[in-house]
Amino acid sequence: MTLTEKILARAAGKARVEAGDNVWVQADVLMTHDVCGPGTIGVFKREFGKNAKVWSRDRIVIIPDHYIFTADSKSNRNVDILRDFVREQGLTYFYDVIDEPNGHWVFDPSKGNLKKQFGSRYAGVCHTALPQKGHTRPGEVLFGTDSHTCMAGAFNEFATGIGNTDAGFVMGTGKLLLKVPETMHFRLEGKLQPGVMAKDVILHCIGEIGFDGATYRAMQFDGDGALSLSMDDRMTIANMAIEAGGKNGIFEFDAQTQAMVDYRCKLNGTKSAYEPVFRDKDEKFVYELVVDLSKLEPTVACHPDPGQRKLARQLGHVKLDRAYIGSCTGGKTSDFLEFARVLRGKRVAIDTFGVPATPEIVHDLQTARWEDKTIWDILISAGVQMTENAGCAACLGGPVDTFGRMNAPLKCISATNRNFPGRMGHKESQVFLASPATVAASALTGKITDPRDYLS
Ligand code: SF4
Repeated sequence: MTLTEKILARAAGKARVEAGDNVWVQADVLMTHDVCGPGTIGVFKREFGKNAKVWSRDRIVIIPDHYIFTADSKSNRNVDILRDFVREQGLTYFYDVIDEPNGHWVFDPSKGNLKKQFGSRYAGVCHTALPQKGHTRPGEVLFGTDSHTCMAGAFNEFATGIGNTDAGFVMGTGKLLLKVPETMHFRLEGKLQPGVMAKDVILHCIGEIGFDGATYRAMQFDGDGALSLSMDDRMTIANMAIEAGGKNGIFEFDAQTQAMVDYRCKLNGTKSAYEPVFRDKDEKFVYELVVDLSKLEPTVACHPDPGQRKLARQLGHVKLDRAYIGSCTGGKTSDFLEFARVLRGKRVAIDTFGVPATPEIVHDLQTARWEDKTIWDILISAGVQMTENAGCAACLGGPVDTFGRMNAPLKCISATNRNFPGRMGHKESQVFLASPATVAASALTGKITDPRDYLS
């Protein structure tokens, strides 16, 4: 069996499963957020009754992160709906925007977008927060009401996005009927060259198979090259499995996985026991691709979908209005470090927005120093508009007052993960997906630029 099949077999209480089997799967964790949480709660109450109790108080994780820093009252109200439900059900894991358990969330636009407006428990973008808060464990099944839930496959688990109806059912029963996906095999060899990042790896793979090339399939990444990647890198790659239509993305378990999971579970007092899955000799794949990481170059997915692959060096004619770094995919500490490495001591030529994925990342950037300056100050000096309000922000557009949102038909190079028309705001805007290093180099020149021109 493949890694995905092994996890699903275990979660279904079976010795073996095969691609195409329909099995009832036991969930380990169900995650929801402010956009889909209220709908999921509505389905749960409608189907199980007004006074029903959730299947497990400790396995439902609620992380508001999407439409948070906006004066839109309906978006603010969604966070209140989550808080009321958490109180009613006595849920353990709710990463509220405010500290007052009986309060109401209201964003204050008069304070501006840049200064922090959240309380001590707020966790930021759900997919980055889940591992930071100790909710991702090898061998487990994670369902989330968000398509990029597949990011947790970096931790050797089966993680996939589900709709509100399925999530309402999981909320009540802890189970879901799933068809076991076929597995596509991406064997990574060699090492990335300077200026080339994990984002380039996944953009390369999606370019090979197209934005629907993995529809309802597992994407398994393994090999020496995969093991040479950091956990942040693996998260970036697994995150974008859905951009090829994948059901999930998954990596092998190794000492790095173990170190991060053990550290985070201990730090947060979450469940520490888990059982990883390892590769078998009899894996059946529906597709195989070998990727030599050392041969990859800075890569861009052009408007209007993540499969429109080109090399950054071929796109020097594309003039840009804006650059953006942020999201679960591209807003991690390591992403900002590579971004800052290119921008250090220089000045951006176009509007450039920076949105860290989580408050912990804001803290990292405001405390880590290169010589006498913090990374945060290096970015501010380079002209980047950095917000402390960690969250999804303009990655998916959001209400019109969302930080970094494209409210006009602009061209933007972005470290985010999705570029279908209208994704970051205006429906005639164009988004070019790239690595943080390519976004930084392009911000300096105002056109798409290969970051290797700026390596020092
Ligand atoms: S940062 Fe973007 S891709 Fe990630 S969860 Fe938020 S909206 Fe979705």
